[in-house]
Amino acid sequence: MGNAKLPEYDYDIIIIGGGPAGFTAGLYAARAGLQALLLEGAATVSQITVTDMIENYPMLLFKNQALKFGLEVLSRDALSISQDPTANLWIIETGEKKLSALSVIAATGAQWRKLGVPGETEFAGKGVSYCATCDGPFYRNQNVVVVGGGDSAIQEALFLTHFAQKVSVIHRRDRLRAAAILQKRAFAEKKIEFVWNSTLSEVTGNDLVTGVKIKDAVSGELKAINAEGVFIFAGRIPHTDIFRSSIELDEAGYIITDDDMKTSAAGFFAAGDCRAKLFRQVVTAAGDGATAAFSAELYIGNLKGEAY
Ligand code: NAP
Repeated sequence: MGNAKLPEYDYDIIIIGGGPAGFTAGLYAARAGLQALLLEGAATVSQITVTDMIENYPMLLFKNQALKFGLEVLSRDALSISQDPTANLWIIETGEKKLSALSVIAATGAQWRKLGVPGETEFAGKGVSYCATCDGPFYRNQNVVVVGGGDSAIQEALFLTHFAQKVSVIHRRDRLRAAAILQKRAFAEKKIEFVWNSTLSEVTGNDLVTGVKIKDAVSGELKAINAEGVFIFAGRIPHTDIFRSSIELDEAGYIITDDDMKTSAAGFFAAGDCRAKLFRQVVTAAGDGATAAFSAELYIGNLKGEAY
């Protein structure tokens, strides 16, 4: 592929990440007639695919619709990315070969921080969850624990009171990090009990979760709590390491963009949970993806000298 004014290159656009942001960007890019490739690697497995069940978005339709319009999908991770500024090209190393493109959309997502305690991985999807909005309704009239003291933990604990009989919030300190308004609501909620200065040391169960063991940070004492659900909200880690030398990230590692999904580097866009923003949901990721693809389309049009 190529153009009179541009050097040879493989794709107009390469999208890194196969979640709602990536596939929406892919759909819009392919529909716009761009030669588009999406890298759907193992390192950036979409949170959607590891969620027990998704009821609030037609996820499968994303991918099928994008494929129908000619999006190419490759099951590879992007291992590194660099720019050849003289040629206006982005070069992506996938291990097997180098791919070049006029523009890139990072849609690599973020993952919930794991605590690394026994039982956490074994019981994922069998009582351990990182999404109350997705899994909360399965715990009607049951006991659940929430780990963490930030906005996510408290907001999700409040949401869980709509279903659960009792919500025990386990926090490693004696005060919350969450916003004052959320704290006020949580302290007033009868179904929520706070277990201060405590860390999760094990998730226990048979086929499904039956409880947790927690450790008192002051006395070191271990205590068991019976619960059918364990919701862990210890912060998130964005998948942005490979972009660190190319574009600006915030102090937590999220990609800084403007409203048009442009990053600090020309031709490099970002969408979804990997970018710095307030609300991380499937629906907001999809909106980002559409915007990023449209911005990239304008950028590519300018590069090719087309009239827009
Ligand atoms: P966060 O603010 O980083 O809070 C993480 C919580 O997990 C903290 O309470 C932290 O304890 C605890 N934690 C971290 N590592 C732990 C470990 N290894 N063991 C036990 N506890 C651990 O994360 P977040 O709540 O997901 O929020 C992320 C960002 O999104 C924040 O900027 C937040 O304001 C924003 N957000 C906003 C809203 C909203 O506006 N309604 C909703 C959700 C999220 P310490 O407090 O001791 O550090």
